[in-house]
Amino acid sequence: DELISQIAAGEVVERPASVVRELVDNALDAGATEITVRLVAGGVRAILVEDDGIGIPADELPMALKRHATSKIASLAELEAVSTMGFRGEALAAIASVAEVAVLSRTAGADHAWRLDARSGELAPAARGVGTSVEVRELFFSTPARRKFLKTDATELAHCIEAVRRHALARPDVAFAVWHEGRLVEQWRRASFEQRVRDVLGADFMEGAREVQARVGPLALSGYAGVPEAARSRADQQYFYVNGRYVRDKLLAHGVRAAYEDVLHGARQPVYLLRLDIAPDRVDVNVHPTKIEVRFRDAREVHQAVRHAVEAALAQPHT
Ligand code: ADP
Ligand code: MG
Repeated sequence: DELISQIAAGEVVERPASVVRELVDNALDAGATEITVRLVAGGVRAILVEDDGIGIPADELPMALKRHATSKIASLAELEAVSTMGFRGEALAAIASVAEVAVLSRTAGADHAWRLDARSGELAPAARGVGTSVEVRELFFSTPARRKFLKTDATELAHCIEAVRRHALARPDVAFAVWHEGRLVEQWRRASFEQRVRDVLGADFMEGAREVQARVGPLALSGYAGVPEAARSRADQQYFYVNGRYVRDKLLAHGVRAAYEDVLHGARQPVYLLRLDIAPDRVDVNVHPTKIEVRFRDAREVHQAVRHAVEAALAQPHT
């Protein structure tokens, strides 16, 4: 059982940034308006994520760390079958199998918080306001082979910050802070969407950016298409969200790239932040733990819509 947990964890947890992504995801699910991420040694020694969400009742704390779907898995073959469907309800359990985890939480009605130590199972009274703190220490401490694959602290820290950045761009209504070894490294206050994009991607990105705003049948596209020559933006500033979820998808990326080639022949890497909203029955957001893939009912329609919306935006004179 422990072994299966660790194998499953390999799918969910590649590096500290995967933990950060899952914990921030949970905080957002809990309705947090303020999320603080504290890291030590690029997240390898410690990752603490604190939120002001609804909290977890004491009697449900042990459940939060239990595997749901994969408790049925008996073989590697079955594990593989499940892994293609994603690991819903697996993140905390998977993380707890490859790190020392504690969850501290308090709900609105409770007199005080409770802290559950995953390893010992000990549940003890603790102090904090309403919300949840998840502590993840010594990632891969029991799997040194995995730990060896981690890069330098600086690189792991950069990946952790990027994981928070992806969430921050989707949720301007939530405040985020990232601390590394006692130093505040990023802070994004609650803001309008436009201001959040400026805060996260920088004034350079916004400099030449054209607003994208299009409605095509059941699809709505919005956001910003940057002009790489005008803005000295980083080439890796490519963010696509489908129904609020960050995705990396070849079809969508291709649609954007085609538009850049049509309008700005030979432009360097496009830089963009785009949000596609689409009726849920027209898309299958298959949340594979690492590659977040999407399958559209009508891929052609989506590709065309993205391409045309970005083309129209790029063809506008900059205001
Ligand atoms: P999932 O998010 O897919 O349900 P997780 O393993 O990530 O699975 O989390 C398990 C459960 O623990 C969640 O369903 C939720 O009930 C609870 N939980 C985890 N993190 C938080 C949090 N920050 N605030 C409130 N509840 C949480
Ligand atoms: Mg989760």
